[in-house]
Parts: sequence; structure tokens; C-alpha cells
Amino acid sequence: MSNAGAAQPVAGLAPYASDPAHSRGRRHPEPEAPTRTAYQRDRDRVIHSTAFRRLVYKTQVFLNHEGDLFRTRLTHSLEVAQLGRSIARSLRLNEDLVEAIALAHDLGHTPFGHAGQDALHACLRRLSPTPDAASEDSGWGFEHNLQSLRVVDELEERYPAFDGLNLSFETREGVLKHCSRANAQRLEAQEPGGVAWRFLHGGAPSLEAQLCNLADEIAYNAHDIDDGVRSGLLTMEQLEDVELFDHYRRRALDAHPRLGGRRLLFEAIRLMLSDQVYDVIDTTRARIAGSGVDSTAAVRAHTVLVAFSDDMRHRTQQLKTFLLRNLYRHPQVMETTSRARKVVNDLFERYLAEPQELPEAHGRRQHQARAVADYIAGMTDRFAIREHERLFGAVLFP
Ligand code: MG
Repeated sequence: MSNAGAAQPVAGLAPYASDPAHSRGRRHPEPEAPTRTAYQRDRDRVIHSTAFRRLVYKTQVFLNHEGDLFRTRLTHSLEVAQLGRSIARSLRLNEDLVEAIALAHDLGHTPFGHAGQDALHACLRRLSPTPDAASEDSGWGFEHNLQSLRVVDELEERYPAFDGLNLSFETREGVLKHCSRANAQRLEAQEPGGVAWRFLHGGAPSLEAQLCNLADEIAYNAHDIDDGVRSGLLTMEQLEDVELFDHYRRRALDAHPRLGGRRLLFEAIRLMLSDQVYDVIDTTRARIAGSGVDSTAAVRAHTVLVAFSDDMRHRTQQLKTFLLRNLYRHPQVMETTSRARKVVNDLFERYLAEPQELPEAHGRRQHQARAVADYIAGMTDRFAIREHERLFGAVLFP
């Protein structure tokens, strides 16, 4: 037995930061670790999970096999963790909690990105068109945030005494970033006053969770520009029409007049990223000071405090609109999206009709539609494609 005792409180945290010494704890009580705080343990559990390793073969925007250099869910999650930690350090928030949430935030994503999620949601809702808070099966559809929570709460099978990873309340709260009312009611019934409470009664999550939401947005806006240009679907000329990006492109050229091509793109993105980080730090610091918030309880009772300035929010929104129109809805992206939908749809119908095609553990679960959805959601892009080829013989992604 170690004699080191419980991990020490984290030094240097702001009074409104999440302190693991005051965590609301785990659903299944466990002794403290001798050398790691609760949130450090949460992060470690996420990194060692099966779902985390699968993120490397899951689509962010571009399908995994379209190129080796595009972001995947894994590299995206690492970028969110990096940005989040860097902002957390300046604001004296809990870096370990930010990292745990950031690395877990996309664990519930289906293969093929949003196309996969939309398809799976439609499959479930066709079976039960109205949400039924009492139903464990198809009624509540598919939401990736909720699925991320299901992964860490139920679906990971790693411990002898319980399902899931048994993470701390604060990490789980951060993972459940959005939640529909029907799903919040269902969760609240299972865990009164728990992670879904704020979706029914209002209030905000911890500052660390708020920060992960914004770091997610900062990360994908920047890396989707990069991947978009790399793929040839976006051009630098088009990006000159985006106020936010063009501002940094000009700044890069002012400092390095002969800069061009890839290095100009990287430099502009780099300047944009660091300005957005400083903007969040300055704005959030001012909002916290103005709010008088001085504890995590006060944070939860207040409206969201981690934010961009109005100007940065406005210009970021323009960039998002640009990416939606020109990248996410690019005909080439939409074309792979429709094939991805077909893969998910076909798999869902087949597994439901022929549960013997499922691995044994999934096939004998009580709620068949949910078991099928969990199985498909857990697949990597390439595994889903292989399964589709095995069951249907058609090659949709040559
Ligand atoms: Mg994300």
C-alpha cells in the first residue's frame, strides 16, 4: 500500500476554478489515487479508453481515407485540449479538467462525421417518431454529445465493478455540452440533480466546460480552413472575402511581404488563432470581474462567462457561415456525405433485421435499436465501410 495519501489541492487556482478536492465525485465511489487528482485520473482513463483510440480513424470533415494529413477526430481533440489548456492557464482555471473534457468531448461521434450522426438519428426516429422519456430504445434519437456521455458512463467495458469509466461529475458535465429537453428529462430521471439538471432548470456548467466549448469552435474554424485549402476545395482567393481571415493574411504579408502559398496560409491561421485566444482571455477575465463570481457555485448560477468579445464573435460567425457554404456544403463533400448516409442506413436496417450479424455482446442486449445504434456509432469510418461491403457486397468507397 502506498503511503503517499490523497493528491494535494492544486496550487494557484482561481477561486472560481474547479478544484478536484471539492469534486462532486464519481457515480461509483472509489478511493483517491495517491499521486493524481480526480481530473488527472479522468484524463488518463479517457486516453486509455477504446473509444479514444478509435478517434484516429473517424472523420472530422474529410473522410479518413481521403488523405493522411487531414484532421481526424483524434487530432481535432488534441488541438482542442492544447487551446483549452493554454487559455485555462492564463485564467487560472483547472488545466487537467479542461484536458479531460477536451479529450472526451467527441468520443460519441459516429463514423463519417455529421453525416453519420444525422443518418443514425433519422434511423432511430423512424422507429419511434416521438421522444419518450421512459424509453431506453429508439425514442430519444441520436445526439453525439449524449453519446459521448454514454461512452464514458456505460459503453466502455474496462472495470470489474462497473460499466463505463466512472469519471468525475465535472468531467461528465463538460462532456454533455448540449442536450435536448426530452433527453435531459430522461437523464434527470436516472440521476436527479445530475448532469442534465441545467438543461431543465437553467444555469451554466463549470468555466472549464465553457472553455472547452469555445476551444472546440476556435480549433475547428482554424483547422477547417487549413484542411479546406489543402484539399483544394477552398482557395486563398475565396478566403480573402472572409474579413477575419483576410485581416491576418494582410498582417502576415505586412511582416513578410514575400510570403506566399502554404506558409502564408499557416502564418495567417497562426495569427488568427493566437488573437482569438487572447480575445477569449481578455473578454472572459473582464466578464468574470464584472460578474463578481467568486466560486464554482456562483459560476453555475450565472450565465455563460467564457466568451469572445462582440467584435470577435461577429467576425467568427462570418467565418463559420463561409465554411458552411463553401466547405461543409461543397458538392464534393456532400457527395461523400450521401454515400456515408447510405452506409449507416443500410447497416442499421440489416443489423436490426438480422441481429445474428451483430457481435454477441450487442446482439443479446434488451433494447435492440439502441444496441445497433451504439454498435454503429462506435465504428471507425473504415470498419463501417468494410462491414457494409461484407453485408451488401457493394463497394461504395472504392
Ligand atoms: Mg469537437
